[in-house]
Amino acid sequence: MSDFDEQAIRAEARAWLEANWSPDLGLVEWRNMLADTGWGMPAWPKEWYGRGLPAGLAPVVEEEFQRIGAVGVARMGIRMLAAATLLEHGSRMHKEKFLRRILTGEDAWCQLFSEPGCGSDLAGATTRAELKGNRWIVNGQKVWTTSAHHAQYGLLLARTDWDAPKHKGLSYFVIDIDQPGVEVYPLRQMNGHASFNQVFLTDAEVAPEFMVGALGEGWKIATTTLMNERRNADSLRRYAQPNFKPGRAYAEERAEIETVMEPYKWYPQRAGRVDLVVERAKATGRNADPTVRQEIAKLLILSKTAEWTARRARAAQAQGRPQGPEGSLGKLIASHVARAAAHVHTLVSGADAMLAGKDGPLDGVIAEILLSVPATSIAGGTDEIQRNIIAERVLKMPKEPRTDTDRPFREVPRNIIS
Ligand SMILES: Cc1cc2nc3c(=O)[nH]c(=O)nc-3n(C[C@H](O)[C@H](O)[C@H](O)COP(=O)(O)OP(=O)(O)OC[C@H]3O[C@@H](n4cnc5c(N)ncnc54)[C@H](O)[C@@H]3O)c2cc1C
Repeated sequence: MSDFDEQAIRAEARAWLEANWSPDLGLVEWRNMLADTGWGMPAWPKEWYGRGLPAGLAPVVEEEFQRIGAVGVARMGIRMLAAATLLEHGSRMHKEKFLRRILTGEDAWCQLFSEPGCGSDLAGATTRAELKGNRWIVNGQKVWTTSAHHAQYGLLLARTDWDAPKHKGLSYFVIDIDQPGVEVYPLRQMNGHASFNQVFLTDAEVAPEFMVGALGEGWKIATTTLMNERRNADSLRRYAQPNFKPGRAYAEERAEIETVMEPYKWYPQRAGRVDLVVERAKATGRNADPTVRQEIAKLLILSKTAEWTARRARAAQAQGRPQGPEGSLGKLIASHVARAAAHVHTLVSGADAMLAGKDGPLDGVIAEILLSVPATSIAGGTDEIQRNIIAERVLKMPKEPRTDTDRPFREVPRNIIS
């Protein structure tokens, strides 16, 4: 039985917002007020800018923000993975230095995990960090690094011990992106956006106090980051919508959406845009075709069950219950929904779905969906990797035979010379 009364929390949030919110405040000034009072992230601990509410009650507070039209804290993107990881494993100094500025949106973050030779096999990372004097010196290459071109800081997974087994020789760092040893080159995607980058690290420096957790604990800490990434897979459908009302806070948020948040602009399309399907079928008259109707019905059923599964996972989390199978299923279901939605959009729009830009249906949004959906089955762990996790951890099936985990990493055959 929860000690928290939903009605009382709603009333308290409403009263506070009515007394304090003004669109004429500066965005950072307002978000600092949210951090001071905990209303921006009510499920975070009281000590760290939250109110210690169960996660299941956070939507109640969010509804009050929407009712009054108040801007929230900066909550999209890799910064939230940084926050979740630092809340769990960061030192007091890390939390003091980074968490508030994550919420105010003053710092953006990126995740320097994947490399040209390791994505699914993340524990095979070969970017190296060596302690020289009072600095960690980092050399290697990362790829797929979303937002690195806007980020101040990166979550870095690097190898600190080549003689330890694969998973034991990694450490986790916060690295300052703005230094000569870090070069960021955007990559253009097939959907036209350039939201991720390749990042070259050449004698880049990290101060020892910016190691997160202990030496050799990198894999454990990276798992926290990845679990949060996978758990939030269903939130891809949302992307901050600009508010065109007058007021300084709205104007500054619009500028943020246009710049720092720009890499996430296509994320709703990546999730398949199930919300567009029915209206579009009506508008094109394809809703009269019985085969198309059946496919639409199948999609809506799949999407609804995915939503309920995600809600069950959130409810379990709110009640402090350990995550059940629904947590592991969410990411995989999100891929299925996205693919099914792309299929239905092609049935509805026909060959026109291939027209990009202003010539295409919905000003090219349908084409963008088709070109963005494949990302959902790759980012944050591919579908095959999710199936392996479900097989081994949820269904307790025998693990895949491995030859690379019980010997020094130095001796493990790799497809990249390092
Ligand atoms: C939109 C997007 C954003 C991303 N952002 C970031 C980011 O910000 N930071 C970051 O670090 N990374 C990021 N990534 C990278 C992402 O995590 C990797 O692409 C992903 O983990 C897959 O790795 P890979 O590309 O090296 O593919 P590989 O690991 O080479 O996989 C190739 C194929 O082999 C299959 N495969 C591999 N191993 C197995 C196995 N054991 N069993 C069965 N099948 C297997 C895979 O499923 C896949 O189909 C992003 C990716 C995308 C698409």
